[in-house]
Amino acid sequence: MKVKFTILGSGSSLGIPRIDGYFGKCNPKIKKNNRMRCSAIITSKNKNILFDTSPDLRMQLLDNKIKNIDNVFYTHPHADQTHGINELRVFYLKNKKKLNIFADKKTSNYLLKSFTYCFKNTDHYPATLKLNSLKNIHYIENIKIRAVKVKHGLIDSNCYIINDKCAYAPDVSKIFSKDYKYFWKLKYLVIDCLRYKWHPSHFNLENVLSFIKEVKPKKTILTNMNNEIDYNEIKSIIPKNVAPAYDGMSVNL
Ligand SMILES: [Zn+2]
Repeated sequence: MKVKFTILGSGSSLGIPRIDGYFGKCNPKIKKNNRMRCSAIITSKNKNILFDTSPDLRMQLLDNKIKNIDNVFYTHPHADQTHGINELRVFYLKNKKKLNIFADKKTSNYLLKSFTYCFKNTDHYPATLKLNSLKNIHYIENIKIRAVKVKHGLIDSNCYIINDKCAYAPDVSKIFSKDYKYFWKLKYLVIDCLRYKWHPSHFNLENVLSFIKEVKPKKTILTNMNNEIDYNEIKSIIPKNVAPAYDGMSVNL
Protein backbone atom coordinates (compact mmCIF):
# COMPACT_ATOMS: atom_id res chain seq x y z
CA MET A 1 0.00 0.00 0.00
CA LYS A 2 1.34 3.37 -1.00
CA VAL A 3 1.72 5.73 1.95
CA LYS A 4 2.84 9.31 1.49
CA PHE A 5 4.03 11.67 4.21
CA THR A 6 3.70 15.39 3.46
CA ILE A 7 4.96 18.34 5.47
CA LEU A 8 2.12 20.88 5.38
CA GLY A 9 3.96 23.50 7.42
CA SER A 10 7.68 23.77 8.19
CA GLY A 11 7.71 27.06 10.11
CA SER A 12 7.87 27.99 13.77
CA SER A 13 5.07 29.54 15.85
CA LEU A 14 4.82 32.91 14.07
CA GLY A 15 5.24 31.63 10.49
CA ILE A 16 7.34 33.17 7.73
CA PRO A 17 6.64 35.86 6.80
CA ARG A 18 5.05 36.89 10.09
CA ILE A 19 1.61 38.49 9.95
CA ASP A 20 3.32 41.91 9.67
CA GLY A 21 5.34 40.80 6.63
CA TYR A 22 8.67 40.33 8.46
CA PHE A 23 10.97 37.71 6.88
CA GLY A 24 13.89 38.03 9.32
CA LYS A 25 17.05 36.61 7.75
CA CYS A 26 15.08 34.63 5.14
CA ASN A 27 15.35 35.84 1.55
CA PRO A 28 11.76 36.79 0.58
CA LYS A 29 12.52 35.97 -3.06
CA ILE A 30 12.98 32.27 -2.30
CA LYS A 31 9.57 30.58 -2.32
CA LYS A 32 10.72 27.83 0.05
CA ASN A 33 11.26 30.48 2.74
CA ASN A 34 7.48 30.90 3.03
CA ARG A 35 6.70 28.65 5.97
CA MET A 36 3.33 27.99 7.53
CA ARG A 37 3.02 26.68 11.08
CA CYS A 38 4.09 23.05 11.70
CA SER A 39 1.79 20.29 10.59
CA ALA A 40 2.05 17.09 8.54
CA ILE A 41 -0.20 14.48 6.98
CA ILE A 42 -0.12 10.83 5.95
CA THR A 43 -2.14 10.07 2.86
CA SER A 44 -2.91 6.58 1.61
CA LYS A 45 -5.58 5.12 -0.65
CA ASN A 46 -8.22 5.06 2.09
CA LYS A 47 -7.01 7.27 4.91
CA ASN A 48 -5.74 10.77 5.54
CA ILE A 49 -4.16 11.12 8.96
CA LEU A 50 -3.30 14.63 10.10
CA PHE A 51 -0.71 15.61 12.71
CA ASP A 52 -1.76 18.80 14.54
CA THR A 53 -4.18 21.50 13.47
CA SER A 54 -2.10 24.60 12.85
CA PRO A 55 -3.68 28.06 12.55
CA ASP A 56 -2.83 27.75 8.81
CA LEU A 57 -4.75 24.48 8.35
CA ARG A 58 -7.28 25.79 5.85
CA MET A 59 -4.63 27.05 3.41
CA GLN A 60 -2.47 23.95 3.99
CA LEU A 61 -5.25 21.59 2.90
CA LEU A 62 -6.23 23.81 -0.03
CA ASP A 63 -2.61 24.10 -1.24
CA ASN A 64 -2.15 20.33 -1.12
CA LYS A 65 -5.62 19.51 -2.51
CA ILE A 66 -6.54 17.42 0.52
CA LYS A 67 -10.29 17.04 0.60
CA ASN A 68 -10.85 14.84 3.62
CA ILE A 69 -9.38 14.06 7.03
CA ASP A 70 -10.07 10.78 8.84
CA ASN A 71 -8.05 11.12 12.03
CA VAL A 72 -5.99 13.72 13.84
CA PHE A 73 -3.05 13.04 16.16
CA TYR A 74 -1.83 15.91 18.34
CA THR A 75 1.79 16.30 19.37
CA HIS A 76 1.21 18.79 22.22
CA PRO A 77 -1.14 21.57 23.34
CA HIS A 78 0.65 24.72 22.10
CA ALA A 79 -1.33 27.25 20.05
CA ASP A 80 0.62 26.69 16.82
CA GLN A 81 -0.33 22.98 16.94
CA THR A 82 -3.97 23.29 18.03
CA HIS A 83 -5.64 26.58 17.12
CA GLY A 84 -6.77 25.52 13.65
CA ILE A 85 -9.07 22.92 15.26
CA ASN A 86 -12.23 24.77 14.25
CA GLU A 87 -11.48 24.11 10.57
CA LEU A 88 -12.16 20.39 11.17
CA ARG A 89 -15.89 21.14 11.39
CA VAL A 90 -16.06 20.83 7.59
CA PHE A 91 -15.29 17.10 7.80
CA TYR A 92 -18.12 16.54 10.27
CA LEU A 93 -20.48 18.25 7.82
CA LYS A 94 -19.11 16.22 4.89
CA ASN A 95 -18.96 12.81 6.55
CA LYS A 96 -21.91 13.24 8.92
CA LYS A 97 -19.95 11.72 11.76
CA LYS A 98 -17.57 12.96 14.41
CA LEU A 99 -13.93 13.05 13.49
CA ASN A 100 -11.60 10.97 15.69
CA ILE A 101 -8.96 12.95 17.55
CA PHE A 102 -6.08 11.35 19.46
CA ALA A 103 -4.24 13.27 22.14
CA ASP A 104 -2.37 12.67 25.39
CA LYS A 105 -3.94 13.67 28.70
CA LYS A 106 -2.53 17.18 28.93
CA THR A 107 -3.39 18.03 25.35
CA SER A 108 -6.89 16.53 25.78
CA ASN A 109 -7.51 18.69 28.86
CA TYR A 110 -6.36 21.80 27.00
CA LEU A 111 -8.56 21.04 23.97
CA LEU A 112 -11.62 20.26 26.11
CA LYS A 113 -11.21 23.45 28.11
CA SER A 114 -10.35 25.78 25.22
CA PHE A 115 -12.58 24.35 22.47
CA THR A 116 -15.43 22.80 24.49
CA TYR A 117 -17.97 23.37 21.71
CA CYS A 118 -16.05 20.98 19.40
CA PHE A 119 -16.56 18.08 21.81
CA LYS A 120 -19.85 18.87 23.58
CA ASN A 121 -23.21 19.67 22.02
CA THR A 122 -24.34 23.25 22.53
CA ASP A 123 -27.89 24.62 22.09
CA HIS A 124 -27.83 24.98 18.32
CA TYR A 125 -24.66 23.19 17.25
CA PRO A 126 -23.72 19.52 17.59
CA ALA A 127 -20.28 18.37 18.71
CA THR A 128 -18.04 17.66 15.72
CA LEU A 129 -15.06 15.82 17.21
CA LYS A 130 -14.55 12.69 19.28
CA LEU A 131 -11.62 12.72 21.66
CA ASN A 132 -9.71 9.44 22.10
CA SER A 133 -6.86 8.82 24.51
CA LEU A 134 -3.48 8.32 22.97
CA LYS A 135 -1.95 4.84 23.24
CA ASN A 136 1.65 3.85 22.59
CA ILE A 137 0.72 2.21 19.31
CA HIS A 138 -2.28 2.76 17.06
CA TYR A 139 -3.12 0.95 13.85
CA ILE A 140 -5.22 2.93 11.41
CA GLU A 141 -5.98 0.20 8.89
CA ASN A 142 -2.46 -0.99 7.98
CA ILE A 143 -0.66 2.13 9.10
CA LYS A 144 1.23 1.75 12.37
CA ILE A 145 1.64 4.88 14.45
CA ARG A 146 3.84 4.76 17.52
CA ALA A 147 3.81 7.65 20.00
CA VAL A 148 7.09 8.36 21.78
CA LYS A 149 7.14 10.90 24.59
CA VAL A 150 9.86 13.53 24.23
CA LYS A 151 10.69 16.71 26.17
CA HIS A 152 9.73 20.10 24.73
CA GLY A 153 11.16 22.53 27.26
CA LEU A 154 8.99 22.38 30.36
CA ILE A 155 6.29 20.24 28.77
CA ASP A 156 6.07 16.87 27.03
CA SER A 157 5.45 16.45 23.35
CA ASN A 158 4.80 13.33 21.29
CA CYS A 159 6.97 12.18 18.45
CA TYR A 160 5.11 9.92 16.02
CA ILE A 161 6.81 7.06 14.21
CA ILE A 162 4.95 5.82 11.15
CA ASN A 163 5.38 2.19 10.00
CA ASP A 164 8.75 2.14 11.86
CA LYS A 165 10.13 4.14 8.93
CA CYS A 166 9.45 7.82 9.41
CA ALA A 167 9.64 9.75 12.69
CA TYR A 168 7.90 13.11 13.02
CA ALA A 169 9.22 15.18 15.94
CA PRO A 170 8.42 18.83 15.23
CA ASP A 171 8.84 20.11 18.79
CA VAL A 172 11.56 18.54 20.87
CA SER A 173 14.32 19.58 23.25
CA LYS A 174 15.31 16.11 24.47
CA ILE A 175 14.84 12.54 23.33
CA PHE A 176 15.40 10.00 26.10
CA SER A 177 18.20 7.54 25.38
CA LYS A 178 15.92 4.64 26.44
CA ASP A 179 13.83 5.50 23.36
CA TYR A 180 16.69 5.66 20.86
CA LYS A 181 15.82 2.10 19.82
CA TYR A 182 12.71 3.42 18.06
CA PHE A 183 14.85 5.75 15.95
CA TRP A 184 17.31 3.20 14.65
CA LYS A 185 16.88 2.17 11.01
CA LEU A 186 14.61 5.08 10.10
CA LYS A 187 14.24 5.95 6.47
CA TYR A 188 13.23 9.50 7.38
CA LEU A 189 13.62 11.59 10.51
CA VAL A 190 11.59 14.81 10.34
CA ILE A 191 12.77 16.87 13.27
CA ASP A 192 12.64 20.23 15.04
CA CYS A 193 15.49 22.59 14.08
CA LEU A 194 14.24 25.94 15.36
CA ARG A 195 17.41 27.95 14.78
CA TYR A 196 21.21 27.92 14.95
CA LYS A 197 21.50 29.15 18.56
CA TRP A 198 20.62 26.97 21.54
CA HIS A 199 16.99 27.19 22.75
CA PRO A 200 15.53 25.77 25.99
CA SER A 201 12.46 24.19 24.31
CA HIS A 202 13.72 23.18 20.87
CA PHE A 203 16.54 21.38 19.10
CA ASN A 204 18.89 23.68 17.25
CA LEU A 205 21.01 22.55 14.29
CA GLU A 206 23.84 21.31 16.52
CA ASN A 207 21.40 19.21 18.61
CA VAL A 208 19.97 17.61 15.45
CA LEU A 209 23.40 16.80 14.02
CA SER A 210 24.57 15.19 17.24
CA PHE A 211 21.33 13.15 17.59
CA ILE A 212 21.61 11.77 14.05
CA LYS A 213 25.17 10.67 14.76
CA GLU A 214 23.63 8.34 17.37
CA VAL A 215 20.66 6.95 15.44
CA LYS A 216 21.81 7.32 11.81
CA PRO A 217 18.60 7.80 9.83
CA LYS A 218 18.93 7.47 6.07
CA LYS A 219 17.62 10.98 5.57
CA THR A 220 16.94 13.81 8.03
CA ILE A 221 14.50 16.61 7.26
CA LEU A 222 14.61 19.79 9.34
CA THR A 223 11.31 21.43 10.28
CA ASN A 224 9.89 24.08 12.66
CA MET A 225 12.52 26.52 11.38
CA ASN A 226 12.29 30.16 12.41
CA ASN A 227 13.10 33.27 10.41
CA GLU A 228 16.84 33.10 11.18
CA ILE A 229 17.17 30.05 8.93
CA ASP A 230 17.29 30.91 5.24
CA TYR A 231 16.54 27.88 3.02
CA ASN A 232 19.51 28.26 0.67
CA GLU A 233 21.94 29.21 3.42
CA ILE A 234 21.22 26.19 5.64
CA LYS A 235 21.19 23.88 2.61
CA SER A 236 24.74 24.93 1.80
CA ILE A 237 26.13 24.07 5.25
CA ILE A 238 24.41 20.81 6.23
CA PRO A 239 25.53 17.26 5.33
CA LYS A 240 24.17 15.65 2.16
CA ASN A 241 21.76 13.33 3.97
CA VAL A 242 20.10 16.28 5.76
CA ALA A 243 17.64 18.62 4.06
CA PRO A 244 15.62 21.62 5.16
CA ALA A 245 11.86 21.04 4.81
CA TYR A 246 9.60 23.28 2.80
CA ASP A 247 5.83 23.47 2.79
CA GLY A 248 4.37 20.74 0.60
CA MET A 249 7.52 18.56 0.67
CA SER A 250 6.54 14.89 0.56
CA VAL A 251 8.21 11.49 0.81
CA ASN A 252 6.94 7.99 0.08
CA LEU A 253 7.07 5.52 2.94
ZN1 LIG B 1 5.36 23.84 21.10
